[in-house]
Amino acid sequence: MANVGVIGLGNMGRGMALSLKRAGVNVVGFDAVEATRAALAAEGVETLADIAALCARADVLVLSLPTAAIVEEVVAGPGGILASGKAGLLVVDTSTSHPDTTRKLATQLEAAGMAMIDAPVSGGPKGAITGTMTMVIGGADADVARAMPVLEAMSATRVHVGPVGAGHVTKIINNLLCAAHLLTCGEALRLAQEAGVEPARMLEGINAGSGRSGVSQVNAGTWILNGAFNSGFTMKLMRKDVKLGTDLLASLGLELPMFAGTAGIWADSATTIPDGEDFNRIVETVFPGKKS
Ligand code: NAD
Repeated sequence: MANVGVIGLGNMGRGMALSLKRAGVNVVGFDAVEATRAALAAEGVETLADIAALCARADVLVLSLPTAAIVEEVVAGPGGILASGKAGLLVVDTSTSHPDTTRKLATQLEAAGMAMIDAPVSGGPKGAITGTMTMVIGGADADVARAMPVLEAMSATRVHVGPVGAGHVTKIINNLLCAAHLLTCGEALRLAQEAGVEPARMLEGINAGSGRSGVSQVNAGTWILNGAFNSGFTMKLMRKDVKLGTDLLASLGLELPMFAGTAGIWADSATTIPDGEDFNRIVETVFPGKKS
């Protein structure tokens, strides 16, 4: 098995590093925040102080970073992977990022004898730490095959959807759908409540019928109806993902009314729901919760 470095040790990267270690992989980690590195080191994963040190130790680098701009900085910025990595290094970007950025960076890495695939994930921090995430993968067949033992240690389901960038296109579509499902599920909860049907019972019926979604089956029961709102995925990151969707539609000159409406509501929510709140809170724009 390859030596693996994980860059970005937040809600997702921490769990990925721990899953890799549990699978017997030789794993080292790096995060820009010293306290985050120290926290993972206390959990038994060796951490290093910069990307150059990571590049010296790893054959495969797994990225779990907040935005496309930060991925670009880590790959192509000063002291980044392009500057420090050796020929043969394989970069696996699990961040939810922009496909154009991904394709550009993959081309730059290839010119330096390195390679990149995109393998964005679903499953949240729980999926990361249990190694049961779903990955949608973009990349050349040979690179995906080389990454496979590392991907398998972090995920239960993997779908190779196309060449470099295709994983990020698919992930953006997934999150546009999730963003829309949260709004429609919130409206369904509100409608049931106003019509005198207990929202949880309504969902039980819907979840056995054709109106169900991942949100109605998982989010509603796990984080919404019980008021927990602790999924580990923030409004800030989901707003970023919806914006990636808006950008993708615009770059293709596509006007799709449901996605456009969804994007508008998520963008407007910035004035009422702070960045650090759980992303499931978007339902509160239409479903304020149980009436006392
Ligand atoms: P997070 O904010 O918890 O973690 C990101 C980490 O990256 C932080 O620890 C931060 O310090 C670090 N970082 C930032 N800039 C850096 C740099 N220049 N160099 C090194 N480290 C740097 O975010 P997260 O929730 O772990 O999400 C990571 C990615 O995974 C995002 O793209 C997100 O959209 C995606 N994602 C998240 C979830 C989820 O449920 N949290 C689910 C699926 C996908």
